[in-house]
Amino acid sequence: MVNPDTEPRLLILGAGPTGLGAAYRLLEKGYRNWKIVERHPWIGGLSTSFRDDKGFTWDVGGHVVFSHYEDFDRFFADMTGGEIFTHDRKSFIRIAQRFVPYPFQNNIRYLPPDMLERCLLGLEEAAAHQGEPDRANFLAWNLSRLGEGITRLFIEPDNIKRWALPLDQLSAEWVGERVSPVDVERIKENIRLGRDDVSWGPNNRFQFPKRGGTGAIFEPMTQRIGDRLNLNREAIEIDPVKRQVRFSDGGVEAYDRLLSTIPIDRLVAMTKGAPGSVTEAASRLKHADGYIVGLGLEQPVPGDKCWIYCPEKPAPFFRATYFSNYSPHNAPDQKHYSFMCDISHSSHLPRNKETIVEETLCGLIETGLLQESDRDALVATYLIDEPYTYPIPTLDRDPILREVHPWLEAQGLHSRGRFGTWLYEIGNMDHCTVMGMQWAEAVLDGKPESVWEKRG
Ligand SMILES: Cc1cc2nc3c(=O)[nH]c(=O)nc-3n(C[C@H](O)[C@H](O)[C@H](O)COP(=O)(O)OP(=O)(O)OC[C@H]3O[C@@H](n4cnc5c(N)ncnc54)[C@H](O)[C@@H]3O)c2cc1C
Repeated sequence: MVNPDTEPRLLILGAGPTGLGAAYRLLEKGYRNWKIVERHPWIGGLSTSFRDDKGFTWDVGGHVVFSHYEDFDRFFADMTGGEIFTHDRKSFIRIAQRFVPYPFQNNIRYLPPDMLERCLLGLEEAAAHQGEPDRANFLAWNLSRLGEGITRLFIEPDNIKRWALPLDQLSAEWVGERVSPVDVERIKENIRLGRDDVSWGPNNRFQFPKRGGTGAIFEPMTQRIGDRLNLNREAIEIDPVKRQVRFSDGGVEAYDRLLSTIPIDRLVAMTKGAPGSVTEAASRLKHADGYIVGLGLEQPVPGDKCWIYCPEKPAPFFRATYFSNYSPHNAPDQKHYSFMCDISHSSHLPRNKETIVEETLCGLIETGLLQESDRDALVATYLIDEPYTYPIPTLDRDPILREVHPWLEAQGLHSRGRFGTWLYEIGNMDHCTVMGMQWAEAVLDGKPESVWEKRG
């Protein structure tokens, strides 16, 4: 509990959703002795947006809002003033030159006959093996639930592109609401009745700000925080004994309580006195890096689709988003539309930054999302090079985190957020904003941090 007479100094590292959630709560509570420090000249972290000189807005990959928390709902309403669109998800898998509605397994009736047969056979074989799915790894888990056909045609190529790692190196313990369940009878009925089955999932309806992209959710915090926000300052060393952080500009900040949203492997590496075993464990955590390629076209948008998963090889991206369908203000006017494509890369799946824009364009053409002639309509390209986009739930992630987090907590270093926890399953904007709010409440009022503590 905080004694208001002695107000401890709170220091927040990183002005992404987690840090800003903490800042929001501290402002609400009228707390004074705190500061938030960000290495970039902008706020928002992975949830920021950029506007290019042609008038297109780009996110750091396809973001949509689907909240699990009333605290986030209130924050979202406060920040956007209700200036939002609500969309029903229209999401597809592009395969064999056709669109299969998402979730894939519920709509395999759209596949060519040979692929459909392969998927059905796999489903039957998997169903015959009754009992608990094989949890040895994410590949085995999918093979045992969905069978060979669906796994090899969609799940495996899609996920390799997203995680940039083979699926037998991923655990099956994180999936929860992130992976669609399987109901063989329902799938067969969908085929028999010629029925589309697209309602599954927490993001089947989502919100998006009218103007300014996803970043508009967080941008008002710049004004609200005022001079407690320090931009262009990168933390480079932490001394948990002296309770000091050193920055790249040569400055030093003292703190009593510290919230870090820096990727946890980097946090450990910059913390003085970290034992070799903890440093070594943290260094084994794996993540994907990202390129986000934006393409602006001078054409009316062809339809009302939201995003398309693209598992096939010619496309380097795992997802292509019709970003101007989220808000017409993401494009200069109605005569233009925009595609935003997500590409993951790693040492296992390297991608060439010099050629990735052209490869993306070729991928869109080869998968049939664009025609060769559309090159003439291309008026804008935008490339975001973002290290650390996906914290990977590898087989050894949880044992590593069980070693690293307790050590950091014991040093008074509270590591929260998408890469601060390294937990993809609580790594969305709503989870992270609320994690930040709850950290502030824990420090000021001794309340439990339910999002972080329920991490399992
Ligand atoms: C491709 C993609 C798609 C996504 N889609 C969705 C979606 O549809 N819906 C959703 O809810 N969420 C989505 N997310 C997740 C969302 O982006 C994150 O939940 C959110 O941004 C995490 O917030 P954070 O504050 O924990 O981390 P970050 O956003 O990473 O912010 C951390 C901040 O710390 C700063 N920082 C790092 N190191 C230092 C340092 N040494 N010194 C000072 N500052 C530092 C960074 O610059 C950054 O601003 C998506 C993410 C990606 C990558």
